[in-house]
Amino acid sequence: MSNKVLVQELRRVVGEANVIDSDVHLQLYQYDAYLEERRPDAVVFVHSTEEVSRVLKICHAHGVPSVPRGGGTNLSGGTIPFKGGVVLEMIRMNRLLEVDKGSLRARVQPGMFNLELGQALAPLGYQYLPDPASQKAATLGGNVAENSGGPHCFKYGVTTNHVAGMTVVLSDGEIVELGGMAPDTPGYDLTGVFVGSEGTFGVCTEVVVRIVRLAEGVKTMLAIYDSIEKGSETVSAIVAAGMVPATLEMMDQLVIHAVEKSLACGLPLDCATVLIIEVDGLKDDLEEQTEAIVRLCKEHGAREVRVAKDEAERALLWAGRRGAFGAVARITPSYLVCDGTVPRTTLPLVLKKVAEVGEKYDLKIPNVFHAGDGNLHPLILFDWRDAEQKARVMKAGMEILELCVQLGGTISGEHGVGLEKMDAMHLILSPDDIQAQLKVKRAFDPADLANPGKIFPAVQEVSHVQ
Ligand SMILES: Cc1cc2nc3c(=O)[nH]c(=O)nc-3n(C[C@H](O)[C@H](O)[C@H](O)COP(=O)(O)OP(=O)(O)OC[C@H]3O[C@@H](n4cnc5c(N)ncnc54)[C@H](O)[C@@H]3O)c2cc1C
Repeated sequence: MSNKVLVQELRRVVGEANVIDSDVHLQLYQYDAYLEERRPDAVVFVHSTEEVSRVLKICHAHGVPSVPRGGGTNLSGGTIPFKGGVVLEMIRMNRLLEVDKGSLRARVQPGMFNLELGQALAPLGYQYLPDPASQKAATLGGNVAENSGGPHCFKYGVTTNHVAGMTVVLSDGEIVELGGMAPDTPGYDLTGVFVGSEGTFGVCTEVVVRIVRLAEGVKTMLAIYDSIEKGSETVSAIVAAGMVPATLEMMDQLVIHAVEKSLACGLPLDCATVLIIEVDGLKDDLEEQTEAIVRLCKEHGAREVRVAKDEAERALLWAGRRGAFGAVARITPSYLVCDGTVPRTTLPLVLKKVAEVGEKYDLKIPNVFHAGDGNLHPLILFDWRDAEQKARVMKAGMEILELCVQLGGTISGEHGVGLEKMDAMHLILSPDDIQAQLKVKRAFDPADLANPGKIFPAVQEVSHVQ
């Protein structure tokens, strides 16, 4: 079918203005926060579950692939229309539909930004806990599809622990309900299976999320170290002492310098690393928890621990941490964000080895990451216009993932596999494992039209990596 006919049919269903197919507009949809690019054939702005269903029926009838897109902040090429086709722009489905305080659930459309949901719930005294650092621009649909984490996920778990149900449209246009407002739907946990499926099972058009009361109080600390090793040792020491802070984040010197240059948050420029540690809970308990953590940090080599005096100081610390990727983007033409996990106790070793990879490939690799989760984000700085540098970066990135696996970790903590890490899947899955997983994909999407060509290497590629 020609593109013109496809566009005509789509316009008939969603209206003239909601389909774009001009070259200049399509260029805007050919990339996301990763490094690959591919232009879609058309972009459709959708407004309801029924509309998504009608659009997907057209795509299915003509064998055209589709890719849902939220904020486009994913770092693994998840929204790149690898096989062409239609991008579904979800951003206008952005309403909070229901807050059920009795059930501790909220029903949300997938195009709502994570931060907006928090801002809508806070005046009611509630919160939704997963909080990716990208929360200003990342949508609930994207969070669900990537099973996103965030600073709070150390204590509270990632997206999958906070999604109770959803409405999904499959690639043939069928509308399906998974889970719901009530706890524990019998049968297989298809909600859990869908979370983290990176758009390859279908399009989520409504999410039922778990909400909780806002914590009565929080205390935020900045622990400052002259040695990365000491800082990373403290992370396990805090947990081993039986404490579970709400967040345990780490930034190294290169990141601190970039953040200070860009945001001036008052971080010390002469240290090797800082930990941002936050405790939350009942006010009566906070002082005791804070004192214990300050003591532990000092026992493990912190040269100073600052406790935020008020909300303004706390906000400044978080502006620095949440703005760190953006700040680093100002000091380099491009960077690759690696996203591997390791057992927390191996942090001192893995950070040393990451630095060695940087030396080997002559690349700068600053680190800013969710230390409590052992979820690393080495940022490999380079210039995308230099093909030789890009090749070195890709090799260094793969070596870091291999390192994570060797140390008992895995190749993605929260950014998904997308296009970026398909080649790394053989580090953790055998060809048989991959075939088994592809059977699940086929159960949801037998025609292979839902975000095809992502996550798993093609079958023939699987056999040569055996
Ligand atoms: C500065 C920065 C900081 C970040 N920090 C974190 C962090 O702390 N934790 C973390 O986990 N991630 C982080 N990320 C990665 C990214 O923000 C998350 O993966 C986020 O959840 C993606 O949301 P999005 O709306 O941008 O999704 P998109 O990038 O638009 O899409 C991501 C994937 O989800 C699919 N998708 C989107 N909407 C739907 C839908 N409605 N139904 C089905 N599939 C859908 C897409 O097809 C794609 O495969 C960060 C990214 C940046 C740029």
